[in-house]
Amino acid sequence: MNDVMDKKKNTETADLRSMTGSELSDFFADLGEPAFRAKQVFSWIHEKGAFSWEEMTNLSKNLREKLKREAPLNDVRVERMQESRIDGTRKYLFALSDGNLIESVLMRYRFGNSVCVSSQAGCRMGCRFCASTVNGVARDLTAGEMLAQVYAIERELGKGERVSHVVVMGSGEPMENYDAVIRFFRLLADEKGKHLSFRNMTVSTCGIVPGIRRLAGEGIPVNLALSLHAPNDEIRKTLMPIARKYGMDEVLAACGDYFAATGRRLTWEYALVRGINDSPEHARELAERIRAYNGVVNLIPVNPVTESGLKEPSGESVRRFQEALKENGAEATIRRTLGRDIDGACGQLRKRVMQGEKPIGDL
Ligand code: SAH
Repeated sequence: MNDVMDKKKNTETADLRSMTGSELSDFFADLGEPAFRAKQVFSWIHEKGAFSWEEMTNLSKNLREKLKREAPLNDVRVERMQESRIDGTRKYLFALSDGNLIESVLMRYRFGNSVCVSSQAGCRMGCRFCASTVNGVARDLTAGEMLAQVYAIERELGKGERVSHVVVMGSGEPMENYDAVIRFFRLLADEKGKHLSFRNMTVSTCGIVPGIRRLAGEGIPVNLALSLHAPNDEIRKTLMPIARKYGMDEVLAACGDYFAATGRRLTWEYALVRGINDSPEHARELAERIRAYNGVVNLIPVNPVTESGLKEPSGESVRRFQEALKENGAEATIRRTLGRDIDGACGQLRKRVMQGEKPIGDL
């Protein structure tokens, strides 16, 4: 709460989309407004997904004018949108009020619509295969900016269609922006807002152990996905700098404790890179490391990013890897690659636009 209020003092504008119901009550009490004002505004922002004060027709014109100046809501706007002709995946590039660019993705599954949200503009984790990290991190996003990605995308869906699942798997390392991410989850779950179940929310981390442990004590049963990408520390260190700080044993133990605390089945993300981590021997080693945990491996043929020089394995070796995992007692699914005809992977569209190139499949 304090960071939201401080922001208000420093910049003279208030970040109302990041506020909880009770923070909004304090805000409107300070303005001398009646208590129901906060409830009306909370519902406009979180239930109806309003992006302008003009829409809020049950507020007086004077108040709307004042809020428009002092608490702008149009802080996130669609800069570009690409839609896959193959599977209807939509990739959004949003511009923030300070000019930073972020990406979000809408994925359409049989079970519902899932939005992949960015938690930072850029990323400083330096994973070799990832486009989000090429230019480092610009800044953390606020909870409101994360919510705005979900609300803006839901607004563009057809009538009656809703966003049912949210995954924090876009650009950024969520554990580096911990408080805002938790605030985002709690606001999404608020029964006066979108009222999404924590079970339909997922956070993905490169393996920041203190963050995983803190999340386990948060009392919110969101799903945890761990970006593993290697069967041992030696290979992991060549792909992910964070592996030099937290070893696999320590990371896996933290995930095991997360399962014990929440009962949520773990997901191990594993990007298969040709010649680096994709042999049946690697699969056996991986299976041995994770067999004791209640989790499922999500295999993703690496989406080649120009600078990295890393290549995806053949479909045949992906299947062989999955088989070898199964034979050794570890369950694995192969991620359906969505949005291959657009810049589907993390940070690709943002990077391309920042470098002045024309994105693939631009509308
Ligand atoms: N920083 C968090 C959130 C990013 S989630 C994390 O590391 O988990 C995005 C997922 O996509 C991560 O598992 C990431 O490792 C993976 N990823 C990034 N670039 C990729 C690429 N080019 N191909 C396949 N997977 C990629």
